[in-house]
Amino acid sequence: MWGPIGPNEGQRNAGMVLLRYGATGFTLGPLGQRPPSLDYCRSKRTDSTPPPHAPPRRAACLTCGARKSNRSPVATTRKSAKDAAPSQRSAPARNPDSAHEAERVAAIADALQALYPEAHCELDFQDPFQLLVATILSAQSTDKMVNAITPALFARFPDAAALAAADVAEVERLVAKTGFFRQKAKNIVGAARIIAREHGGVVPRTMEELVKLPGVARKTGNVVLGSAYGMNEGIAVDTHVMRLAGRLALSSESDPPKIEQDLLRLFPRERWTMIGHQLIWHGRRVCFARKPACESCTLAPLCPSRGIA
Ligand code: SF4
Repeated sequence: MWGPIGPNEGQRNAGMVLLRYGATGFTLGPLGQRPPSLDYCRSKRTDSTPPPHAPPRRAACLTCGARKSNRSPVATTRKSAKDAAPSQRSAPARNPDSAHEAERVAAIADALQALYPEAHCELDFQDPFQLLVATILSAQSTDKMVNAITPALFARFPDAAALAAADVAEVERLVAKTGFFRQKAKNIVGAARIIAREHGGVVPRTMEELVKLPGVARKTGNVVLGSAYGMNEGIAVDTHVMRLAGRLALSSESDPPKIEQDLLRLFPRERWTMIGHQLIWHGRRVCFARKPACESCTLAPLCPSRGIA
């Protein structure tokens, strides 16, 4: 895999670029020595003339796997993953069973642990029920917004029994700022009624029971089991985890349950919950959706998508 090295390494090896991360590990070479294929990943490239060393037809980029289209940009109207902006593409799939790939994944886990040893769920909650409600409300919203409205909601409805008896219209008003508020109000009141009626007011501790609650899928189940009950039952795959799994070539899937299964195979069970938090923290602080800060990213030497923006 070719590409420039991260900034820290750049300081130590001024004037050099990372030329290969292969079976023999990192290889450095003089700055300016760059494989021709990397040019296909340049989002700012405006010259449509292929470089002289480019193969005549649709060569695949070694960095992102994309193929340069022969069609005129004007004629391109259909949106697909291939046409996505470079920062939205996933890195090409790798062989997770190779020893070298296992080393790379272990190095990513170690780097995330060193970067975010205190990573945790950033939703405010006092007990499993509050975390369940906050997580349902966080869909298509931000943790900051949810944390702004839940104090009033939990002051009015402190537990499952209280929320189960609530007037849905009143709940709608309290959660209105989180978006999709009618469906969310219906879901949290519906979940509270099932918890109060069938589970004695206690949020269930199994994924099987959790996903039967309205508004709850595996992501919410994993958040509750991992952060409220301290159980490593899975990895919560949200938008940040999806994006980072693709960019770091941890999964080539686009479906959250399949991404989760890929991640569960790569990381040891005792790290599942924490890896989820750490990927989310890195996505929020460095590997932004539109403009990832690759130049200051510690994971850059291990990331096949470095330099995508
Ligand atoms: S910010 Fe880091 S993890 Fe994200 S694409 Fe850039 S190098 Fe990779």
